[in-house]
Amino acid sequence: MGDTTSGPSPVADQWDWQFEGLCRTVSPELFFHPEGERGSARRRRDERAKRLCLQCPVLEPCRAHALSAREPYGVWGAMTEEERTAALSEADIAPDPAATPDSEEPGRNTA
Ligand code: SF4
Repeated sequence: MGDTTSGPSPVADQWDWQFEGLCRTVSPELFFHPEGERGSARRRRDERAKRLCLQCPVLEPCRAHALSAREPYGVWGAMTEEERTAALSEADIAPDPAATPDSEEPGRNTA
């Protein structure tokens, strides 16, 4: 039998955190805006959802999942879809801290 200690983890392990989410105790409508909801009604619902998230024991894995999966809708990990989009946009344009200017410029010999 081959080595079963390496390789990808079982999929269930990646999702177990969801069982501890506080959102399981309330209606999903708190986290996902209904069709046509706009303005202050939407902001108030989003803020209520985010307040619940801030007390949730699995906020960090939830947020990490939503960002990496680019979840398009709803409040996840105390972030609205617009806040996730903004955070991902900033991450896309943020300079790589490991990169050093000019060090990879073709033809440049720094030796
Ligand atoms: S952080 Fe918010 S959306 Fe994520 S599991 Fe907890 S309550 Fe649900």
